[in-house]
Amino acid sequence: MVEPGLQEEHCRVAIVGGGPAGLALAAELRRLSIGKVIVLERESRAGGTPRHCGHYPFGLYEYMRLLKGPDYARRNLESAILRGVEVRTDTTVTALQPDGVLEILNGKGRSILRADRVVLCTGVRESSRAQRFIGGDRPRGVVTTGALQSMVYLKGIKPFERPVILGSELVSLSAIQTAAHLGIKPVAIVEEENHLIARSILRPYLTLKSIPLHLSATNPRILGQEKVEALEYTNKDGSRQLIETDGIIISGRFRPEAALLKASHLAVDAGTGGPDIDQFGRCTDPVYYATGNLLRPAETSGYCWREGVETARRIAADLNGSEFGTLSVSVHVADPAIRYVVPQRLTHANGMDGMNRFYISLKEPVNASLAIHGDQGQLWKRRLNARPVRRIEIPMIDPFRNGHTSAIHFSIQR
Ligand SMILES: Cc1cc2nc3c(=O)[nH]c(=O)nc-3n(C[C@H](O)[C@H](O)[C@H](O)COP(=O)(O)OP(=O)(O)OC[C@H]3O[C@@H](n4cnc5c(N)ncnc54)[C@H](O)[C@@H]3O)c2cc1C
Repeated sequence: MVEPGLQEEHCRVAIVGGGPAGLALAAELRRLSIGKVIVLERESRAGGTPRHCGHYPFGLYEYMRLLKGPDYARRNLESAILRGVEVRTDTTVTALQPDGVLEILNGKGRSILRADRVVLCTGVRESSRAQRFIGGDRPRGVVTTGALQSMVYLKGIKPFERPVILGSELVSLSAIQTAAHLGIKPVAIVEEENHLIARSILRPYLTLKSIPLHLSATNPRILGQEKVEALEYTNKDGSRQLIETDGIIISGRFRPEAALLKASHLAVDAGTGGPDIDQFGRCTDPVYYATGNLLRPAETSGYCWREGVETARRIAADLNGSEFGTLSVSVHVADPAIRYVVPQRLTHANGMDGMNRFYISLKEPVNASLAIHGDQGQLWKRRLNARPVRRIEIPMIDPFRNGHTSAIHFSIQR
């Protein structure tokens, strides 16, 4: 319920989050002649995560140029403003209510924004030390990649000289580049799994930079009284190993930035930690859409930018009167090796283009067949040899084509 006395405003589409997905979506909506489009961004400048990534490579697909993160963020912002998008910074959305009602907090106080459609584009963040159950002492000098980026690029702070990077996802590359900006030289990358999580690009890069990689390193513990002094972990053979260091960069293990979503009336998917959406990006309240990394952790900026543009086209079709059917199919994960599948629902709609791929992520390595079953039996099957965290995309099936099925199930046939 809307609190009486608060100032109210109306717009056609309100976008929560001014990162690559939100800004690309806003610009595309305006290009498609959708009226008043407002981007709400809690930071003092819009642009999202790339604003903090003062390194290459960004923008190759979008602008056919190799840009650093802040330049890319600026280009996205300028494109949106040129199209007539209203970008409101220092403006935090504090609650989502049914019927597109947003509670907002900015320098002028609290207010209400009502929108015909709302799009959630709040992105991801890395898991904290507590969320990763990293034990040991509590000294200074333990930061996530995101926090390091803010210190180094935005404030010029050098929190340590020779840190250890925990985790080997692609973002660890970003951690190395960020560190190099102020002459910080990581002494090691420590990974709990027995393989590099990032694709093979990282290995030659580590060799080039002379950064040793420690695999199968479990139970990490941080040691140090005031400042970090060492990282200790358990080797595959059970022995303990000590790396002397003056800082720890906790990288990766992304989670959707979903605090707003979780406090709302919208359903959250347990697998992704993001919203439960259909193939058009609609949440369980169809006034609300979601796109970008909030949908699942985590993709590159170019990928999220494209998702934003595609979602804008679906929203424009929706606002211009395209009709969704009442039939719906729920998507189930029927094997513990599968972490999640996006989208989580399929809605019947004539002549509207939804996502043309399922996005799948695994919990453990799989070398077997991935199958989709409906009420009447198998609908699709393919050999799969893949590892966790890496993107798996398969063509979207049409469960409405040969009669209705109430649900489809993703399973692994070993
Ligand atoms: C530490 C880190 C490093 C990364 N490095 C790279 C890299 O080097 N290259 C790469 O391609 N990708 C990188 N990524 C992935 C990155 O998430 C994507 O590149 C891209 O930024 C995702 O775009 P997005 O629009 O979905 O979300 P984001 O860019 O995260 O934008 C979300 C925006 O929503 C705003 N927001 C959140 N909640 C609210 C609220 N309640 N009210 C108002 N505003 C809100 C945030 O302030 C933010 O600006 C990195 C991610 C992280 C976390």
